[in-house]
Amino acid sequence: MTRMNQPEIVASGITRTYQEGSRRHTVLDNIDLQIQRGESVAVRGRSGSGKSTLLNLLGAIDSPDSGTLVTCGVELTDLDEHARTLFRREKLGFVYQAFNLIPTLTVADNIRLVLELNAIVRSDADARIEELLGAVGLEDRAASFPDILSGGEQQRVAIARALAHRPRILIADEPTGNLDDTAAENVLELLEQLVRAQGGTMVIATHSTRVAAACDRSIELHNGRLERVE
Ligand code: ADP
Ligand code: MG
Repeated sequence: MTRMNQPEIVASGITRTYQEGSRRHTVLDNIDLQIQRGESVAVRGRSGSGKSTLLNLLGAIDSPDSGTLVTCGVELTDLDEHARTLFRREKLGFVYQAFNLIPTLTVADNIRLVLELNAIVRSDADARIEELLGAVGLEDRAASFPDILSGGEQQRVAIARALAHRPRILIADEPTGNLDDTAAENVLELLEQLVRAQGGTMVIATHSTRVAAACDRSIELHNGRLERVE
């Protein structure tokens, strides 16, 4: 259990650089960020401003050059690769712009994979898959393969998959970037509703002012630094 009042994510002095030939390019420059449990935060900023880099750090996919990151009460910079993988699998869910469903698995089996990775027994997994597909309005698509679904439907499956193991934090990197307005609206509503229903925390990188407006607050990356926007 996390102590009361301890933020779900505490990033302190996070710096991430990339080597470009002989030059070091600072993408994130000494960033401090705290996100409370149950909060939804939009990360904005122009293309190349470091949104995905920041999300990958918060999501324990990548590590900072310096600074510390405490997520769900765990100091991520202390974890080795294996421990980070286990942490990610249990505590986090991810949704990307390119839905990233596995094309050779049915909709149900795409979701099942996450449940298996979390060692959920088969009968419980079946019930959970049904519940999730109901929640995203795709109960009749369990046996379909992803490629016959529309973009909006695929993203709804990706959301069901991301939330299957009830992660504490959902990281979404431009989740509506590939969708038309109606599908984007639908996906946004689902994210909001499902993440809030389980008391989860959400961090969304987005260009959409609508998505940002639906979040509790927005932050903007600019020249490697974070600015708060209202
Ligand atoms: P955004 O998601 O806001 O578009 P990114 O975080 O993807 O921005 O990228 C920020 C900057 O970091 C860009 O200049 C990009 O070229 C650079 N960058 C991202 N990933 C790498 C990498 N693996 N190697 C080198 N440079 C990278
Ligand atoms: Mg990006």
